[in-house]
Amino acid sequence: MKRTKIVATLGPSTAKKETLKQMFLEGLNVCRLNFSHGGYDAHLESLRIIRELNEELALNVAVLADLQGPKIRTHEMENNGVLLENDSIVTISTQEVLGTSTHFSINYEQLPKDVNPGERILLDDGKLTLEVIETDKQHEFKAKVIYGGILSSKKGVNFPNTAISMPSLTEKDRKDLDFAIEQGVDWIGLSFVRSPQDIKELKNIIAHRGAKAKVIAKIEKPEAVASIEEIIKEADALMVARGDLGVEVPYQNVPLIQKMIINRARLNAKPVIVATQMMESMISNMMPTRAEVNDVANAVLDGADAVMLSGETSVGAHPIEVIKTMSNIVKEMETFDGIYNKEEIPEKNQARFITDSICFNAVRLSQRTEADAILTMSFSGYTAYKLASQRPKAPIYVFTSNRSILTQINLIWGVKGFYYDKRISTDHTISDIKNILKGEGLLKDGELVVNIASIPLEELGKSNMIKLSYVD
Ligand code: PGA
Ligand code: MN
Repeated sequence: MKRTKIVATLGPSTAKKETLKQMFLEGLNVCRLNFSHGGYDAHLESLRIIRELNEELALNVAVLADLQGPKIRTHEMENNGVLLENDSIVTISTQEVLGTSTHFSINYEQLPKDVNPGERILLDDGKLTLEVIETDKQHEFKAKVIYGGILSSKKGVNFPNTAISMPSLTEKDRKDLDFAIEQGVDWIGLSFVRSPQDIKELKNIIAHRGAKAKVIAKIEKPEAVASIEEIIKEADALMVARGDLGVEVPYQNVPLIQKMIINRARLNAKPVIVATQMMESMISNMMPTRAEVNDVANAVLDGADAVMLSGETSVGAHPIEVIKTMSNIVKEMETFDGIYNKEEIPEKNQARFITDSICFNAVRLSQRTEADAILTMSFSGYTAYKLASQRPKAPIYVFTSNRSILTQINLIWGVKGFYYDKRISTDHTISDIKNILKGEGLLKDGELVVNIASIPLEELGKSNMIKLSYVD
């Protein structure tokens, strides 16, 4: 079993059920619906196919709805792309126009008020650079092209030196959130998080609707890096969103920020995804570059829970091949012992002390005995996150009667979930789930397993026991 999970963005290239099926079979674990692109009809169709495939293939592939957040984007361009020439002057307006090489529009009304002459504008993940020269403080501003190139439709625009006054959840995000909640997605990504308050606000809305979705804080602003500890505490998971991050902070700062976020997230038992340009060249090529192979490999070595694909799968020419290639790199890196057994001594005098100690000692026991699996019963999913954060070498099989966590936990490193709702006795459950795993071909006679459970079973309490036994 591959421990590190793969998140892939869906789009026109993954529209066919057969394509997505092959992607699932090659190791895709989480489907990302990007609300920056694609209408609700396309997302609904994707959701329908994902659920059918989960049923047909007995998988629990999760759904991540990624909200655009206060992302500034260009509107449509003529011929789907125009050439901005060095030193030319362009007019950028808030009134939507079909973009040309001298005049295009962006999706944020307040922008002419927010910008000032001399501030930098970075287009398309920093591929093009402009500089503000004047603004009418109302409807439009002018900029000089410093580094030109082709600008295609709906590209991101970053203003690293400008204080943007846009709220963290835009009108569009609120509509998209309604849709995502109605569709019962597992994870909701929030882009351009600036403070822990942004996450709190989103979680409040989700809780008020009685929804089960958990929140991923996308770290792509310097403000978020500065308050990372507080954001990790509020968020359910993190994304190192390198596309915008590498534009908003100096690009050479991104590698250490990636390592820092992964480390802090893991110590807080919060899953973390490394995103953007991991296999970029495979949008058109059949083979990744050596640098891309190293990038995916290093994310695994850094301890990421998941690696993500964006354009490679959504609009790429080889969506199946790229999953297969990424899986190959991940599996090879997972033969390296250095990524396993990251011990975390549980804190005393806190509500979860017993469960945390059980998880800690289950992982340690699995290491000492070279166990073949760790089996846990979980309703909230807590033990799954906690066990995984210590990166045991043994796969973590989670049995739950809570359908709503079954797909959600598919994002977590090393975890595979199973639905299980029998409640006869702890002894019965332990032997029953070992049999289920034998039936699935995941365990064999004579293998050693660590079970954690809660006694007495009827109370559905927190995990408080560990059992070590052979499969027979
Ligand atoms: P995006 O987020 O693809 O929604 O921009 C990821 C990133 O910025 O890296
Ligand atoms: Mn981004």
